[in-house]
Amino acid sequence: MNIKIRPNKKVFPFFMIISVFAILCMPKTTYSAQQSVSAKAVVIIGNSPTNDTTPNGWPTCGYIAQGPYSPPTHNVSPNRPAVDIQDENGTGDNIYSTHKGIVDNIFLNDPLGGNGILIRGDKYITLYAHLQGFAPGITVNQQINAGTLLGYRDSTGNAILPHVHYMIWDTSYNEISLTEFNSLVPPYSLLDTVTSTWGPCK
Ligand SMILES: [Zn+2]
Repeated sequence: MNIKIRPNKKVFPFFMIISVFAILCMPKTTYSAQQSVSAKAVVIIGNSPTNDTTPNGWPTCGYIAQGPYSPPTHNVSPNRPAVDIQDENGTGDNIYSTHKGIVDNIFLNDPLGGNGILIRGDKYITLYAHLQGFAPGITVNQQINAGTLLGYRDSTGNAILPHVHYMIWDTSYNEISLTEFNSLVPPYSLLDTVTSTWGPCK
Protein backbone atom coordinates (compact mmCIF):
# COMPACT_ATOMS: atom_id res chain seq x y z
CA MET A 1 0.00 0.00 0.00
CA ASN A 2 1.16 3.46 -0.78
CA ILE A 3 -0.43 5.70 1.77
CA LYS A 4 0.33 9.35 2.20
CA ILE A 5 -0.97 11.43 5.01
CA ARG A 6 -1.59 15.10 4.59
CA PRO A 7 -2.76 16.79 7.78
CA ASN A 8 -5.90 18.73 7.18
CA LYS A 9 -6.69 21.31 9.80
CA LYS A 10 -10.27 21.49 8.77
CA VAL A 11 -10.81 17.80 9.20
CA PHE A 12 -9.00 16.76 12.31
CA PRO A 13 -11.06 18.88 14.71
CA PHE A 14 -13.98 16.76 13.69
CA PHE A 15 -12.31 13.66 14.99
CA MET A 16 -11.56 15.28 18.26
CA ILE A 17 -15.19 16.07 18.77
CA ILE A 18 -17.11 13.14 17.55
CA SER A 19 -17.52 9.82 19.13
CA VAL A 20 -17.94 7.33 16.39
CA PHE A 21 -19.22 3.92 17.14
CA ALA A 22 -21.81 1.83 15.64
CA ILE A 23 -24.97 0.49 16.77
CA LEU A 24 -27.20 -0.84 14.17
CA CYS A 25 -28.62 -0.38 10.89
CA MET A 26 -30.24 -1.49 7.88
CA PRO A 27 -32.37 -0.07 5.08
CA LYS A 28 -33.56 -0.66 1.78
CA THR A 29 -32.27 0.45 -1.46
CA THR A 30 -34.11 0.81 -4.68
CA TYR A 31 -30.97 0.33 -6.72
CA SER A 32 -30.77 -2.89 -8.61
CA ALA A 33 -28.82 -2.00 -11.68
CA GLN A 34 -26.50 -4.44 -13.33
CA GLN A 35 -22.92 -4.11 -12.34
CA SER A 36 -19.69 -5.03 -14.01
CA VAL A 37 -16.53 -5.26 -11.96
CA SER A 38 -13.00 -4.44 -13.05
CA ALA A 39 -9.82 -4.51 -11.07
CA LYS A 40 -10.27 -1.24 -9.29
CA ALA A 41 -13.60 0.20 -10.22
CA VAL A 42 -17.17 -0.78 -10.73
CA VAL A 43 -19.27 0.58 -13.54
CA ILE A 44 -22.96 0.76 -12.93
CA ILE A 45 -24.95 0.10 -16.07
CA GLY A 46 -28.10 2.12 -16.22
CA ASN A 47 -27.33 3.87 -12.98
CA SER A 48 -25.46 7.02 -12.09
CA PRO A 49 -22.49 7.86 -14.28
CA THR A 50 -19.14 7.23 -12.67
CA ASN A 51 -18.05 10.77 -13.52
CA ASP A 52 -20.75 12.33 -11.33
CA THR A 53 -19.14 14.29 -8.50
CA THR A 54 -22.34 14.29 -6.45
CA PRO A 55 -22.61 11.41 -3.93
CA ASN A 56 -25.07 8.74 -4.90
CA GLY A 57 -26.07 5.39 -3.48
CA TRP A 58 -24.42 3.33 -0.73
CA PRO A 59 -20.67 2.75 -0.47
CA THR A 60 -21.04 -0.79 0.87
CA CYS A 61 -23.56 -3.35 2.05
CA GLY A 62 -24.83 -4.03 5.52
CA TYR A 63 -27.52 -2.66 7.75
CA ILE A 64 -28.05 0.90 8.87
CA ALA A 65 -26.98 0.83 12.50
CA GLN A 66 -27.21 4.55 13.06
CA GLY A 67 -28.77 7.25 10.99
CA PRO A 68 -27.95 10.89 10.45
CA TYR A 69 -28.79 13.52 13.06
CA SER A 70 -29.55 10.83 15.62
CA PRO A 71 -28.17 9.62 18.94
CA PRO A 72 -25.91 8.39 20.30
CA THR A 73 -23.08 9.79 18.18
CA HIS A 74 -24.68 11.26 15.09
CA ASN A 75 -26.37 14.00 17.03
CA VAL A 76 -23.07 15.72 17.78
CA SER A 77 -21.86 18.41 15.40
CA PRO A 78 -20.07 18.14 13.02
CA ASN A 79 -20.71 14.43 12.98
CA ARG A 80 -24.41 14.59 12.20
CA PRO A 81 -24.81 14.04 8.43
CA ALA A 82 -23.66 10.42 8.56
CA VAL A 83 -24.82 6.84 8.58
CA ASP A 84 -23.17 3.76 10.03
CA ILE A 85 -23.36 0.79 7.69
CA GLN A 86 -22.61 -2.22 9.82
CA ASP A 87 -22.00 -5.91 9.40
CA GLU A 88 -20.83 -7.92 12.37
CA ASN A 89 -19.26 -10.41 9.98
CA GLY A 90 -18.20 -7.78 7.51
CA THR A 91 -14.57 -7.19 8.34
CA GLY A 92 -12.78 -6.72 5.06
CA ASP A 93 -15.86 -5.91 3.02
CA ASN A 94 -15.31 -3.54 0.11
CA ILE A 95 -15.94 0.17 0.53
CA TYR A 96 -16.47 2.19 -2.66
CA SER A 97 -16.46 5.87 -3.40
CA THR A 98 -19.98 7.13 -4.04
CA HIS A 99 -18.87 9.85 -6.44
CA LYS A 100 -16.09 11.13 -8.65
CA GLY A 101 -13.49 13.32 -6.99
CA ILE A 102 -10.01 13.47 -5.60
CA VAL A 103 -8.64 11.90 -2.47
CA ASP A 104 -8.61 14.93 -0.17
CA ASN A 105 -7.03 13.20 2.80
CA ILE A 106 -6.17 9.84 4.29
CA PHE A 107 -5.72 9.32 8.01
CA LEU A 108 -4.43 6.41 10.03
CA ASN A 109 -5.01 5.28 13.59
CA ASP A 110 -7.17 8.19 14.62
CA PRO A 111 -8.54 7.45 18.10
CA LEU A 112 -12.06 8.06 16.88
CA GLY A 113 -12.14 7.51 13.14
CA GLY A 114 -9.44 4.86 12.96
CA ASN A 115 -8.31 4.59 9.36
CA GLY A 116 -10.29 6.78 7.00
CA ILE A 117 -10.38 8.51 3.67
CA LEU A 118 -11.97 11.72 2.40
CA ILE A 119 -13.09 12.23 -1.19
CA ARG A 120 -13.66 15.77 -2.53
CA GLY A 121 -16.17 16.37 -5.29
CA ASP A 122 -17.41 19.63 -6.77
CA LYS A 123 -20.07 20.22 -4.13
CA TYR A 124 -19.48 17.64 -1.43
CA ILE A 125 -16.82 15.80 0.52
CA THR A 126 -17.47 12.26 1.69
CA LEU A 127 -15.80 10.44 4.57
CA TYR A 128 -15.36 6.68 5.00
CA ALA A 129 -14.03 5.83 8.47
CA HIS A 130 -13.08 2.84 10.68
CA LEU A 131 -11.46 1.09 7.72
CA GLN A 132 -9.15 -1.89 7.96
CA GLY A 133 -6.90 -0.46 5.29
CA PHE A 134 -6.93 1.07 1.85
CA ALA A 135 -7.13 -0.35 -1.62
CA PRO A 136 -3.82 -0.74 -3.47
CA GLY A 137 -2.64 2.46 -5.07
CA ILE A 138 -4.95 4.84 -3.23
CA THR A 139 -3.06 8.05 -2.49
CA VAL A 140 -3.85 11.64 -1.54
CA ASN A 141 -4.78 13.84 -4.53
CA GLN A 142 -5.57 10.82 -6.66
CA GLN A 143 -8.44 11.21 -9.09
CA ILE A 144 -11.08 8.57 -8.63
CA ASN A 145 -14.48 7.76 -10.06
CA ALA A 146 -17.70 6.76 -8.43
CA GLY A 147 -17.36 3.08 -7.73
CA THR A 148 -13.62 3.12 -7.16
CA LEU A 149 -12.65 0.68 -4.43
CA LEU A 150 -11.26 2.75 -1.55
CA GLY A 151 -10.66 0.27 1.25
CA TYR A 152 -12.14 -2.35 3.51
CA ARG A 153 -14.54 -2.35 6.41
CA ASP A 154 -13.35 -2.85 9.96
CA SER A 155 -13.77 -1.38 13.41
CA THR A 156 -10.63 0.73 13.74
CA GLY A 157 -10.84 3.77 15.96
CA ASN A 158 -13.81 4.12 18.26
CA ALA A 159 -16.06 1.44 16.86
CA ILE A 160 -17.75 -1.42 18.66
CA LEU A 161 -18.49 -3.54 15.61
CA PRO A 162 -17.28 -3.49 12.00
CA HIS A 163 -18.97 -0.67 10.15
CA VAL A 164 -18.22 2.22 7.90
CA HIS A 165 -19.02 5.69 9.13
CA TYR A 166 -20.14 7.33 5.90
CA MET A 167 -20.51 11.10 6.10
CA ILE A 168 -21.18 13.92 3.66
CA TRP A 169 -20.04 17.52 4.19
CA ASP A 170 -19.98 20.49 1.87
CA THR A 171 -16.59 21.33 0.38
CA SER A 172 -15.72 23.56 3.36
CA TYR A 173 -16.32 20.70 5.78
CA ASN A 174 -19.53 22.26 7.01
CA GLU A 175 -22.43 20.03 7.90
CA ILE A 176 -25.22 19.63 5.43
CA SER A 177 -28.82 19.36 6.58
CA LEU A 178 -30.63 16.12 7.22
CA THR A 179 -32.83 16.83 4.22
CA GLU A 180 -29.85 17.40 1.97
CA PHE A 181 -28.09 14.30 3.27
CA ASN A 182 -31.14 12.17 2.61
CA SER A 183 -31.31 13.51 -0.92
CA LEU A 184 -27.84 12.06 -1.57
CA VAL A 185 -28.50 8.48 -0.46
CA PRO A 186 -31.22 5.98 -1.35
CA PRO A 187 -34.33 5.86 0.84
CA TYR A 188 -33.67 3.94 4.05
CA SER A 189 -34.84 3.26 7.56
CA LEU A 190 -32.89 2.37 10.64
CA LEU A 191 -31.86 -1.30 10.61
CA ASP A 192 -32.67 -1.68 6.94
CA THR A 193 -30.35 -3.97 5.04
CA VAL A 194 -28.74 -2.16 2.15
CA THR A 195 -26.78 -3.28 -0.85
CA SER A 196 -23.75 -1.58 -2.20
CA THR A 197 -24.65 0.59 -5.15
CA TRP A 198 -21.22 0.28 -6.71
CA GLY A 199 -19.97 -3.27 -6.48
CA PRO A 200 -19.84 -6.52 -4.54
CA CYS A 201 -19.00 -6.30 -0.87
CA LYS A 202 -17.22 -9.62 -0.63
ZN1 LIG B 1 -20.91 6.77 12.62
